[in-house]
Amino acid sequence: MNTKAYFGKFGGQFVPETAMSALIELENAYESIAKTKAFRKELKNLLKTYVGRPTPLYHAKRLSEHYGHEIYLKREDLNHTGAHKLNNALAQALLAKKMGKKKIMAETGAGQHGLATATAAALLGLECDVYMGACDAKRQALNVYKMKLLGANVVEIEDGLKTLKEATTAAIQAWVNEIETRFYVIGSAVGPHPYPKMVKDFQSVIGKEAKKQLKKIKAKADFVIACVGGGSNATGIFSAFLDDKNTKLIGVEAAGLGVDTPYHAATLTKGMDGIIHGMKTIVLQDQYGMILPVHSISAGLDYPGVGPEHAYLKDIKRVQYYAVTDDECINALKRLSELEGIIPAIESSHALAYLEKLCPNLKGKKTIIVNVSGRGDKDMDTVINYKKGTIYG
Ligand SMILES: *Cc1c(COP(=O)(O)O)cnc(C)c1O
Repeated sequence: MNTKAYFGKFGGQFVPETAMSALIELENAYESIAKTKAFRKELKNLLKTYVGRPTPLYHAKRLSEHYGHEIYLKREDLNHTGAHKLNNALAQALLAKKMGKKKIMAETGAGQHGLATATAAALLGLECDVYMGACDAKRQALNVYKMKLLGANVVEIEDGLKTLKEATTAAIQAWVNEIETRFYVIGSAVGPHPYPKMVKDFQSVIGKEAKKQLKKIKAKADFVIACVGGGSNATGIFSAFLDDKNTKLIGVEAAGLGVDTPYHAATLTKGMDGIIHGMKTIVLQDQYGMILPVHSISAGLDYPGVGPEHAYLKDIKRVQYYAVTDDECINALKRLSELEGIIPAIESSHALAYLEKLCPNLKGKKTIIVNVSGRGDKDMDTVINYKKGTIYG
């Protein structure tokens, strides 16, 4: 057993034999190329000059006044393409290029990871295939158009429900068939080893910056809050604070219409140990182990699994995980827009919504960091048409 593949009992490599050689090749390349000084220097320069890092740690004065605590926002929404996703997609694409791969590929649901991958491919001069369910492609026509404009080939999948699950299956198939020439860019801290550890590494820039920025203003974080879909923005910011015993870490999942209804995506709140997409983790499943359908207003949090590190951090009680509803999320989005002039993504609004539950119960003035993982431009239709009780697929 490859013990490096695990976080406690979670993680591993639960893939068909045909994919194992590619995972071993990737792990070797990650260790021998991506950890070198030269690679880090090149990546850092691209993050600075192309992505726009470091992102600010912004003291939200009016939000702080509103809650009676010192609230700081880590502004991942200010990255190029509008979210944290490019940090990882760009790093993986750079690794692919150094490995001599000609083509990168990705699967995408709402299109955000596809867009980040297509952007990185254009920047580095790589071919790019993005797998997308035909139904999702229709709903996300603007993102499909953007990806095509960036030179990517969007492969629409007509199987089953024509959504992310079918797109992922098709993408894995295509990857295994052309494993010599393709590099599979995974968009969150999920999948078989080494992806969860590699994505954590590539997103840890968020936490490193935040810690440095806090030090500069001589502040210490009492709480760090982030939303959790697959868990990449959360692990990215948490990673720098895991050893700080006085810093409480909080992950926020999507409760959809409520965790006591069938319409949610609260994996860590309601799931059980299981296997999904090549990893052992916590999974939303029925009594027979069949993956349950998930529901959330936010496509980025709409996932029936979660990265294995989060399953582990919950197990050892280092991170507390909670869930907030679609309604609480929309209220939080409006609150930040009105109080700070920042329209956050609906994913990030889940993290912001948790302030409502946390702040009234705290004694003394606390310093709280919220990771604003992305901007809300992509969500305006959803917000305008929002009605309480809507079931999102
Ligand atoms: C994709 C996405 C997420 C969820 O993904 P994680 O891997 O859990 O971070 C959160 N916020 C935004 C803005 C996203 O685009």
